[in-house]
Amino acid sequence: MSIRNVYLFGQGVVPGIVIGRAHLIQGANQYAWTQRHIPPEECSIEIDRLRQAVETSWQQLEDIKEQLAGDSKDPGHILEAHQMMLRDQDLQSSFEKIIVSERINAEWAVLRTLGAWEERFLRIENEYIRERFSDLRFVCTRLLRTLSGQSANEVIAPPPDAVIIATELSPADTILLGRNAVAGLITVRGGKTSHTVIIAKAFEIPTVVGVARAFEHVGEGDLVVLNGHKGEIIVNPDAKLVSVYRAQSHRMIAKDQALLEKCHLPGETADGTQVRVLANLDFADEIVKAKGHGAEGIGLYRTEFLFMVHEKDIADEQVHFQDVKELLERWPGGGPVTLRTFDLGGDKFPLTSQLAREANPALGQRSLRLALAHPHIFKAQLRGFLRAYALFPHIDLRIMFPLVASVREFQTAREILCECYRELSIEGHEIPDTFKIGAMLELPAALMIADMLSRECQFFSIGSNDLIQYALAVDRGNEKVAHMYRGLHPGILRMIHHAIRAADDAGVDISLCGDLATEPIPALIMLGLGLRSFSMPPVFIPYAKDFLRTVRLAEIEELTTHALTLPCADDIEAFMRASLGNRLQDTFWSEISEK
Ligand code: PEP
Ligand code: MG
Repeated sequence: MSIRNVYLFGQGVVPGIVIGRAHLIQGANQYAWTQRHIPPEECSIEIDRLRQAVETSWQQLEDIKEQLAGDSKDPGHILEAHQMMLRDQDLQSSFEKIIVSERINAEWAVLRTLGAWEERFLRIENEYIRERFSDLRFVCTRLLRTLSGQSANEVIAPPPDAVIIATELSPADTILLGRNAVAGLITVRGGKTSHTVIIAKAFEIPTVVGVARAFEHVGEGDLVVLNGHKGEIIVNPDAKLVSVYRAQSHRMIAKDQALLEKCHLPGETADGTQVRVLANLDFADEIVKAKGHGAEGIGLYRTEFLFMVHEKDIADEQVHFQDVKELLERWPGGGPVTLRTFDLGGDKFPLTSQLAREANPALGQRSLRLALAHPHIFKAQLRGFLRAYALFPHIDLRIMFPLVASVREFQTAREILCECYRELSIEGHEIPDTFKIGAMLELPAALMIADMLSRECQFFSIGSNDLIQYALAVDRGNEKVAHMYRGLHPGILRMIHHAIRAADDAGVDISLCGDLATEPIPALIMLGLGLRSFSMPPVFIPYAKDFLRTVRLAEIEELTTHALTLPCADDIEAFMRASLGNRLQDTFWSEISEK
């Protein structure tokens, strides 16, 4: 008899509550692939088998891409990257060299190569780079399945409504699972920047990653509750827990539906204070979802993601032009579209070019600093932006620089933008001069000089994700210090308050695009501090708009005034929770009460 109510925890990366039967998927390391020594005359046979398997695997990915054609969630670009990896000459020749030099069969050569790469990658501390190794593992697993005669596209055939438990999932597998309508995903490995998570979000599959002991505690067919909000898993829940979560899940599904129906209403509080709710996008095609979820504009388009998952040349103006054109042509106008110039370095790396290794990348040449150090790349992007804008002059276009540290730095970046504008005008492009130029406030020093920056900028956007990490000296990706990463720290609130006041005094538009906008208590405090514009991932927008309608501005201002007198984040949170009571329930972030 299985043990009841086993709780496991990981990182909740796609919200939602589901109850389903576990379906376990094993990775490359769990299968017993045939490994055998071969006589010299068989080497060419093994090499042929390998080449054949590469082509078959390439075709399998092509088949998945075809099935996806026309789907707005189309993550085909990730599959393309895997196809390129499969046909990579260096990779193929390293397989072949091992077959010949060690006289081993193709499966073993693939495993050997994978093992050698794994050793090198595991020594790398950066999470993003480590995750790129997963891509190699996915490609090799597919190759191994093909070599062993399995159809890699059929291996994954879960029963309907299954909750998948996997060491990790390839993007291709995740797409197949998404199309199979699985209920949820639980992985042992993976962080929130993985491609798998990007796809799980696109398919809206509730997902928890980093559940270290999943395979120890979950067996095939076990009943599992997955709470993607809290990153919580309950294995073999008793009848009482199942009914609590089932009721909660039904309520949320019904609420999701109801909220989507009214998500196009304007953002406002119960007493009619207008609050603009904008969308954060990582890829241009997400704009379709942003519109469908009631976004009143795009508050942040992270232009660097394109280069992190695509083998595209970041110095190619045409690539930037095409990307922004695709974004703008799908936006009907009416609200701002904010393009952030590339924010690479730190933990974000382009696929095609090597950035120099730095001892402390978070404090190194990242973001705007990187752009200013490589003006030809920066200009390629800015020229691409402006040329795309020329095609859609009716759009309220905003160009925003990330990680601005000083007035001089902002002025330098703006001068480069103006230079691009002048050059394009001389070249005969008719570009309206009505676009706005602004700065992200995500360094503590930048918030403290917001009054000075406001004389230069036409708008601000607060980047709370980086602000918290720099102000509190807490790495935003390190789970060991995650409990110290607190947006409600009074020091953070004071800095944000200072910036909002400076912007208001100068009449400069100010918004918040960090993830703090998705949490109800911090968002309300920002409202109380005077913020009237929030930008967040599209899926949060209907919830945020609904929640805003439950509060009155005068009440929130009063709560905020008191909250600012409290010494610690915990005190502020407890006070706000007690004051808001059950209005916090049934939000994205609700606590599940086990009554
Ligand atoms: C931020 O830092 O808050 C932000 C929105 O930018 P990113 O998360 O891309 O660093
Ligand atoms: Mg940032």
